[in-house]
Amino acid sequence: MANFALTIGGKRIETAQTFKVLNPADESVVAEAPQGTVALLDQAVEAARKALPGWSALSSEARAAKLMEIAEVIEKHHPELAELVTREQGKTQSGPGANMEVGGAVAWTRVTASLSLPEETIQDDAKGKILLRRKPVGVVGSITPWNWPLMIAVWHIMPAIRIGCTVVIKPSPYTPLSTLRLVELMNTVLPPGVINVVTGDAEVGSRMVTHPGINKIVFTGSINTGKKVMGGAADTLKRLTLELGGNDAGIILPGTKIEPLLEKLFWGCFINAGQTCAALKRLYVHSSQYEEVVSKFADYVSKIPVGNGMDAKSLIGPLTNKMQLDKVASYVDEARARGARIVTGGVRPKGPGFFYPLTVIADATDDMLVVKEEQFGPVIPIVKYETVDQAIAKANSLEVGLGGSVWGDDSAAAATTAARLECGTAWVNQHGGLHPMAPFGGVKCSGIGVEFNVDGLKEYTTVQVLNIAV
Ligand code: NAD
Repeated sequence: MANFALTIGGKRIETAQTFKVLNPADESVVAEAPQGTVALLDQAVEAARKALPGWSALSSEARAAKLMEIAEVIEKHHPELAELVTREQGKTQSGPGANMEVGGAVAWTRVTASLSLPEETIQDDAKGKILLRRKPVGVVGSITPWNWPLMIAVWHIMPAIRIGCTVVIKPSPYTPLSTLRLVELMNTVLPPGVINVVTGDAEVGSRMVTHPGINKIVFTGSINTGKKVMGGAADTLKRLTLELGGNDAGIILPGTKIEPLLEKLFWGCFINAGQTCAALKRLYVHSSQYEEVVSKFADYVSKIPVGNGMDAKSLIGPLTNKMQLDKVASYVDEARARGARIVTGGVRPKGPGFFYPLTVIADATDDMLVVKEEQFGPVIPIVKYETVDQAIAKANSLEVGLGGSVWGDDSAAAATTAARLECGTAWVNQHGGLHPMAPFGGVKCSGIGVEFNVDGLKEYTTVQVLNIAV
């Protein structure tokens, strides 16, 4: 593997200390990553501040052209980046895995290049002229998780630099390599200091949140850390976008033909071994077809190949780290102890690697951890309901609200039911599909603000009204 370094002010920075990044498929060392520090963060913020006036003064067209160049560079390095993602994160090369992640990074970069926020005229008449302008918020601190490391980095960075901000990004210590490489590649196209990367965990992350040189934090991660970010940002009144955890419900309406939906249902639940914020995490099925759905879905799930993501035959890889594996295994064990039926999976294989089998749990109830908490693994609990109103009430009963879905033969009727879900995206006969022009974000404790399209761009701006008397 290549020699990884931080990038600050356009320069490669090799650090005295390094840390090991493990391959979750076999626990071998993928690479030594440079260890960021608070002092290096300070340097990165300084570099971003220095680059801000020049970058924000460029024309919108010039910045859009730079984003198109970045998309080309990412595309050119697609195989290298996809391999890095598989090796550090675990997701597969085949199916909707690492190649989809890199392809998505390119697509999102191009779409973001095409967006703009032109000046708006509020009033222009004999009484006066009022213009609304959106200015870049300044230096953005981006903090990312380990589940879709490259994609989420792109979701944070591209709208920020598109609109004229400069950025310091801190990836998760579990998956820093693809971000380090992405930022290095971006620096072949951008002026120094526009995008900088510093590694580190809570110490560096919490300093970003309180740093007086950072104007906005865009954070994707868990609800608990998100709450700390919000608290820490109060002193400097930083702008925030928080994309936090979910525990998405899916409801299959009574009498739905299940066979045509199995494949979509599978990917809705198990994409990236379930380590996806908006994966289907609780499936509600009517009592009249409960056993049929349980057995047909478990049968489908049990045939999907799980293995090392670099093996083209694997469609699902391991969990990304031991912490996550232990959590998922303990939640399944708790459900079993409370009387749930483990229809397939549920037995942790011997190592090496952080593998957990694809698991379908029947007779799941609301009080089980696997239902009420975000388990973030390749597990789906299936809960029985008697009326659609009851299913909606159960779906809406938690503090989270990222996504949700309703499945039924009559998609218009399913859409009417889906609109009753308390969540940022309600899907019908699918779960988890994203589009770069469809704003994405959570309600309740799943987050604040949205990403994508012009609504996402606006999150990186402040409003200035120019009110001109005649
Ligand atoms: P996490 O909250 O543990 O870590 C996220 C990032 O925050 C990491 O870079 C971490 O180093 C950093 N961090 C840790 N402590 C910090 C602190 N005190 N201050 C500032 N930063 C700190 O989350 P994770 O386990 O890496 O990611 C999984 C979570 O992310 C899940 O809950 C998942 O649902 C969520 N997620 C949400 C979305 C979304 O768009 N809503 C997308 C992907 C993941």
